[in-house]
Amino acid sequence: MSDEGKRIDGKLIAEDVVARVAAHTQKLGAEKNVTPGLAVIIVGEDPASQVYVASKGRKAKECGFHSVQHTLPADTSEEDVLAHVRALNDDPAIHGILVQLPLPKHIDENKVIQTIAPNKDVDGFHYMNVGKLGTGDLSTAYVPCTPAGSMILIRRVLGDDLSGLSAVVIGRSNIVGKPMANLLLGANCTVTIAHSRTKDLPALTRTADIVVAAVGRPEMVKGDWIKPGATLVDVGINRVDAPERGEGKTRLTGDADYEGVLENAAHATPVPGGVGPMTIAMLMANTLTSACRHAGFDEPDL
Ligand code: NAD
Repeated sequence: MSDEGKRIDGKLIAEDVVARVAAHTQKLGAEKNVTPGLAVIIVGEDPASQVYVASKGRKAKECGFHSVQHTLPADTSEEDVLAHVRALNDDPAIHGILVQLPLPKHIDENKVIQTIAPNKDVDGFHYMNVGKLGTGDLSTAYVPCTPAGSMILIRRVLGDDLSGLSAVVIGRSNIVGKPMANLLLGANCTVTIAHSRTKDLPALTRTADIVVAAVGRPEMVKGDWIKPGATLVDVGINRVDAPERGEGKTRLTGDADYEGVLENAAHATPVPGGVGPMTIAMLMANTLTSACRHAGFDEPDL
């Protein structure tokens, strides 16, 4: 089935967000002489992490940011990583600090994250930002990039007023599920969080106007789990075997059976090309927002 008119094009919307970020960055430079600075710390040589970090650096440059990368060897001590974070906390040229996860096992990830200054925590994982999102203080919080990007996708198709819509978020992780639920709640949706112990998940999702799948199980959400006219946001990124593409080949797929979902949904995000590109765009947006807040300048309209 063609996805014409139903596909939420995350790639296109992410490009639009990045263009808005770049334009606002120019204004901030012209009016306040401030350039947003993003620092990424990566420890060790995990190839996937290196790819992510390189693409974050490229995107930051595209936005006109000052972008720095600290690549530390895998055997760097926890104290050394913390010292790097503290130095960036004190560096006035840096507005966003991101520590690429996972960290090597001898380093306490949570300790590192909680050492990042909350007002430079562009991943939104510091307890201060988690608390602000939980209490609805969005004007000073930094919101995790994937749910923040998912929210923009939802608003682009459903508009700004989501009041009274019912939303089911599948997954309760601190990185995606819980902050997503808080954002939808903040937007006056009636929110249910489903997880691995939820009974009769298909019956639950069939009640929802908005379904967000953040599970990590390939194509778990089927077409008949979706109410006619509903919106599906698929956060999952799963690599599966693709023998049809040749021996040993793989492909990426989401947590939903996209083709099946299109039978009922009014709007759905594909994988790849849905939520994925939004995550990195929102990292740029959060970094610019931080620079604006530090400079006392208007925040970008995304
Ligand atoms: P996670 O493993 O931390 O959480 C998964 C959640 O799914 C858990 O809360 C669990 O209760 C729930 N779950 C597991 N099995 C279930 C089942 N059978 N029924 C209902 N719920 C079930 O994962 P995460 O970090 O939240 O990531 C979820 C997915 O999103 C993964 O595929 C991940 O790769 C992807 N992801 C994508 C992006 C992006 O940029 N697009 C960012 C982060 C994560």
